[in-house]
Amino acid sequence: MSNITFTMIKPDATGKGFTGAIIDRIIKAGFVIKALKWTKLSAEKAGEFYAIHKERPFYGELVEFMSSGTIVAAILEKDNAVADFRKLIGATNPAHADAGTIRKDFAASVGENAVHGSDSDENAIIEGNFLFSSLERF
Ligand code: GDP
Repeated sequence: MSNITFTMIKPDATGKGFTGAIIDRIIKAGFVIKALKWTKLSAEKAGEFYAIHKERPFYGELVEFMSSGTIVAAILEKDNAVADFRKLIGATNPAHADAGTIRKDFAASVGENAVHGSDSDENAIIEGNFLFSSLERF
């Protein structure tokens, strides 16, 4: 059975011109794009998206970074979407990411780590609904 995950290509990666290459990797890995948009989060929206990390010491830095430039958000469909996508992107810290993963190849640091991937089916639905209306997904 197919299910969905949610991703954002983060401001570091869009700013360095990696958007096309990252989308190509995602499609070649078998994910089907159900929704896609190029946008920019306000600090307020970024803060809301990452509210679960509010108590973490890096929260302020994370919100500032995620609202510092454009992002590309997408809903992706595939069997085992959440786990397979996290495997495709690699560890949070690119220094610890496996060879061939998106973060290994495109990310610079644990904060500016090129892509977001949902960590559960439940959060994939919540995050997809946060960025997309019903008119924007197919
Ligand atoms: P993920 O699920 O792999 O994205 O990792 P987490 O849920 O643990 O963290 C969410 C996001 O917060 C990460 O993708 C990073 O952008 C950021 N982050 C995590 N740890 C750090 C850190 O130590 N410093 C900074 N500046 N950002 C961090």
